[in-house]
Formats: sequence, C-alpha cells, structure tokens
Amino acid sequence: MKKQAFMTMDVESYYDTTSLQNTDIVVDDKFNCADQIDRFLDLLEKENIKATFFVTISFLPKCKDFLLKAIKQGHEIALHCYEHEVIKDISKKDFDLLIKKSKEILKEELDVEPIGYRFPCFEYRDELLKVLKENGFIYNSSSSMKDGEIYQLNGLYEVPLIKKYFLGKKILISGGGYGRGFPRHKYLSWVKKYISSHNYYIFYFHPFEIYEGELPLPSNANKRLKYFINHGRKDYLDKIKKIIHFLKENDYEFSTIKDALK
Ligand SMILES: [Zn+2]
Repeated sequence: MKKQAFMTMDVESYYDTTSLQNTDIVVDDKFNCADQIDRFLDLLEKENIKATFFVTISFLPKCKDFLLKAIKQGHEIALHCYEHEVIKDISKKDFDLLIKKSKEILKEELDVEPIGYRFPCFEYRDELLKVLKENGFIYNSSSSMKDGEIYQLNGLYEVPLIKKYFLGKKILISGGGYGRGFPRHKYLSWVKKYISSHNYYIFYFHPFEIYEGELPLPSNANKRLKYFINHGRKDYLDKIKKIIHFLKENDYEFSTIKDALK
C-alpha cells in the first residue's frame, strides 16, 4: 500500500491567531508573517515535495505574491476561510455567501478553483459540509475524530489530522501548537512511532509559528498566551524538516491533497 504524506499550511496573518482575538493587540503589518510562507516554499523546493496551502481570504492582499509563487511551483491552493471567523454557529445561508465570495476572489486574484477546505479552529457542523459540496468542494481537512486514513464523510472526503492521547489528554501529532509546545525529542519520537506503523500522515502549521524574531503581544497577555505565541518558534522549521526526513526514510510519498484524491 502506498504511504501518503501531506504537508499543509494554514495561511493567515499572525493577527488572525485565535488566542489574540478580543485582545488589545495593535495590528502592525511588519509582523503579519506573510514572508514566512516564502521560507516554507524554500524548504519544499529543497526537499522537492508539494504541499497544500489553506488560504484566509482577508490575508490575500498581504501574501498574494507568495501564493502566486506557490502555484508556479506546483503547490495546491485550498480555502481556510474568509476572515478567520470561527463559523461553527453561522447559518447555512450566510456560510454559502461567504464561500461564494471567497471562491470568486480566489478565481479573480489567483485564478484558482479550490476543492479543499479547512475550518478555522477545526470547528464546524455537518450541515456546513453540504454547503461545501454544493460549491464544488471535494474534501474537508478539519477533523481528527477518526484518523489514520482519508475517508468519506457527508459526501466529502475527510483528510483528518492525527491525534494521540497523552496523560489522558488529546493532542495532535499533526503539528499546530502541539508540535511547537512539546519538547523536540518527545514530539519527534511520537511522530516517528506513528509514521513507522501507518500509511497516512498530515502536518499543518501557520506562518507565524516559524517566525524567529520577537512578536508583539497584547498589553495584558498572560503567561499562558506568552508561552503559546513564543514557545518553540525558533527551530520549528528545522523540526518540520526532520519530520519530512522521517517520512522520506519510511517511504512516504508527498503530494498535494488534490493530487492524492484524483
Ligand atoms: Zn486558522
């Protein structure tokens, strides 16, 4: 059986980070982290692998050139959301409008028709999957209920994140804050153990997570928020490179999600 690996990035501004919502942080575009997309593109080129970029429409004006470069290099553009709103409770009708508007903009700006979607914070309800299907989407990548392989869910393919339980708590071994937060050796050993006994792996992260400099924080940021934003960013891209190497050593093939579903 073919072993499949998917590297994905949720393309959003640092200021879209959910834990910064409803804080007094002042937006300064110097720190939106759009240029980190380019560092990921460099790594992908060096490793000669293709990836999938889930794009936030409101961030598009700041990162358009990097996404055009990604398209030129053969990567996939999928949709993350319109404004990084958590839309679990949105009406079907409003979601449909957002999706149509987002698709129109992606077509106009990047000449792309997305077939994949990832919900902000992985929060959604089944009804919304129908809207995606009606709008030509083929897959969703927002669940970790069942993992280890791509499966069908409500008429779409679900390309799930991978979880494990550690001290009774669910953590993702597909990246996100967990990939940065846990000590390098421990996290890599979990990933290694998983990929050596499965045929499916997916990884996701955000541009800000590989930014190596200091990032602005809200004036009232507590210890937890400071830790979440700052921990492990400095060598995260290198950790990601290590994961790519483990996957290669274990005979995984990398592709965009779109190509794997053809
Ligand atoms: Zn997001």
